This record gives sequence, C-alpha cells and structure tokens, in this order.
Amino acid sequence: MALIVQKYGGTSVGDIERIKNVARKVKARVDQGHQLVVVLSAMAGVTNSLIALAGEISSDPDPRELDVLLTTGEQQSVALFCMAAREMGMPARSLMGFQAAILTDRMFGRARINFVETRRIHELLDKGRLVVVAGFQGVDEDTGDITTLGRGGSDTTAVALAAALRAEVCEIYTDVEGVFTTDPNVEPKARKLAQVSYEEMLEMASLGAKVLDIRSVALAAKFGVRVHVRSTFTDREGTMVIPEDHIDEKLMVSGVAYNKNEARIKVRGVPDQPGVASKLFTPISQAGIVVDVIIQNTSADGITDLTFTVPKTDYKRALELVQQVAQTIGARAVRGDTDIAKVSIIGIGMRNHSGVATKMFETLARENINIQMINTSEIKISCVIEEKYTELAVRALHEAFGLAQQNEPEAEEVSRV
Ligand code: ASP
Ligand code: MG
Repeated sequence: MALIVQKYGGTSVGDIERIKNVARKVKARVDQGHQLVVVLSAMAGVTNSLIALAGEISSDPDPRELDVLLTTGEQQSVALFCMAAREMGMPARSLMGFQAAILTDRMFGRARINFVETRRIHELLDKGRLVVVAGFQGVDEDTGDITTLGRGGSDTTAVALAAALRAEVCEIYTDVEGVFTTDPNVEPKARKLAQVSYEEMLEMASLGAKVLDIRSVALAAKFGVRVHVRSTFTDREGTMVIPEDHIDEKLMVSGVAYNKNEARIKVRGVPDQPGVASKLFTPISQAGIVVDVIIQNTSADGITDLTFTVPKTDYKRALELVQQVAQTIGARAVRGDTDIAKVSIIGIGMRNHSGVATKMFETLARENINIQMINTSEIKISCVIEEKYTELAVRALHEAFGLAQQNEPEAEEVSRV
C-alpha cells in the first residue's frame, strides 16, 4: 500500500462526465488498497471567466478580493468531485487550501507556500477517507486571508503535498500523454520520453514546453518528489520526472524547445565603460522585467553594442526604459524587433559530450538559418533566429539529434530477419 498524490487539471474535470471519469480512475487505485490525496484544478475555463467578471468591475481589482473570488473555481470542482466519489461508495472529503493548512506568504495572486501542516490530512487518511484538496490556493499564516499561488498553481499544490506527506509519487494527470522530445504540433515524429531529469524539465518548462508549471518542478527538485506526468484519458504510462542519477539513459539531447514570446532590443554605440551595463539593466529589473539572452560585442574605439531579449509582453515598457537610459549614457541608437524566436536543445548528456553545439550550428546552417544570438548553460544551447524559421529549425534539430520515432530501424530489423 502506498500513499499517492494525484492532480487533475482543468480539462480533466471540465464537465460532469469528466468528473465522474476521474472518480472512476481514483476508485481503481483506492480499490488496489492505496491511500490517495487528490488535488483538483477548477473546471476548464472557470478561472478565466472569474477573472473576466472581475475585469468588468475594475481594470485593477483588489488583489485580496480577487484571490477570494478565484479560489471559488477550485471550491466547485472539489465539492462536485466528492459528490461523485461518494456516489461510487468512496468516503471522500474536500478540503480548501486553508483547511488543508497550506500556509503561504501574503503575496496575493502569486503566493509562495511556506509550510504544509499535514496533521488534518493524516487524520482523515487514517480514518480511511479519500482526501480531495482544492489546488492553487493557500492561506496567509499571519492573517488567515485566502491566497492563490498564481496561474497553473495546482501543480505546485500537488507537489507540495507530495513532499509534505512523503508520498511515493505525485501523479499529474493532464490532457497530454507526457513530456515529448518536442512539440508534436510542430514535429509529428516527436516521441514521449519515459524519463526526464528535474533540470531538463526546468529548462524545457522555462523554454515554453507547457506540460508542468515551472514552480512545481523546482519544488519537486528541492524535495526529490517523483513526478509522473500522464494523460487522464488513457491508462498508458507517461513521463517520470526524477533526479538525474535515477535516469537510465542519459541522452545527449533529450528535447528541442522553442519560444516565440521574446523580443529583442539592440543598443548601438554604447560607451565601453564600467557601470554602463548596470545603468542600462537596473531600471529594467526594477520594473520587474526578466532579461534572457544578453550579448555584448567586442568594442572598437571604446564603443560597443549591447543586445538582449525580454518577454514580448514587456517589450514596449523595456524599450521605453532603455530609450531613457540611452540618452544619459550617450548611446547612439536603440532598436527593437519582435520577429525573433529562440530554439534550444536540452540534455544532461551534454555535460560529458563535446561537439553538441557544433552539430546544432551545422544543422541550422544546412537549412540556411542565420543564428543571431547564442546562449548556453551546462545542459542547454539556445539560438535566437528569425521567427519564421522556428518550425523548420525545430524539425531539423529533432532529426539531427536522432529524436524522431524509431519506427524505421525497427522495420529494418524485421526485414533482416
Ligand atoms: N485554476 C487555476 C488556473 O487556471 C490553477 C490551475 O489550474 O492550476 O490557473
Ligand atoms: Mg496546468
């Protein structure tokens, strides 16, 4: 008998039939003798429509009240689910975030979990109850006010509970079958990975593979929670997100990610002096804008160029800020463009292999794709290219690093026999 935390996303509980379907899946596990804690998101679309309602009243609704409103989405789904579970003979009990004692700070709309007081959950489990916790929410320890963890926060609720309860596994049920070698909408030959390390997953999530919320991956890594990402709609195994030293086959490249949500700002003719970069980037970071790739050219005659990328949503603001500073530091010109994309290859095997970057550059060159910026980490290489070549680049890299489905070699073996 194991203690398992399961989380079901919004589409998995999108209507009453689906809620009943989830209850049946849970029952199958309970019948095997496992103890279950189920975390639910709001039914698909509910959080968005609550936000829209608030937006009809104010363009800047009070953050505390907005959280009170948004947590009702999950309140609906856990109540309906428990009713469905009880119809199937399971003694289910719903808990809102405050009842489950998910204690957070006071940052409404993006609260961080400080601690989970598991006593009540343990008591319920000991009484043989099926515990059903509302995702995405907690309570400010000091005031008792309701908080939310930020969009997509139910994954974090599930991982935090799995860590606090020392669950054997945290199963994240979603509408895809797991983590793929790349976006199957771009490359139909994309393959589901059986295993992926936390670090790879973090890179993939931050690069735009939207399977798991990034904060939940960081939390899983911190506490060593084994996360199983899998589909609600099949019984097939999904992808295990686990520590690197538990990975059976350390692939040189395990995934190709892309991100079209960045824009680029070029500052030309910057005096090459101490303090210039700090003058340029301080106002940007003070505005809460996250800078990604940065390149500074080698200077000529005491003058250089600085180029960097920011999220497209922050582009206008960043451009304004840079234009202001550019005057004070005596830069010659500021330019920006939004038709860029970042393609990246990720793999823990890169640590011990050379030539990975060269292969990436060669592959892009063969497709006549110009590389505009390059950024690397120990397990990732990213290239900024023209946006219109994104799909071509992704497919070429996927092929070059042998990630495509291995149908062909199998067929060959058969014919050889
Ligand atoms: N319902 C919340 C949202 O849509 C939290 C979640 O689904 O994870 O962001
Ligand atoms: Mg989600």
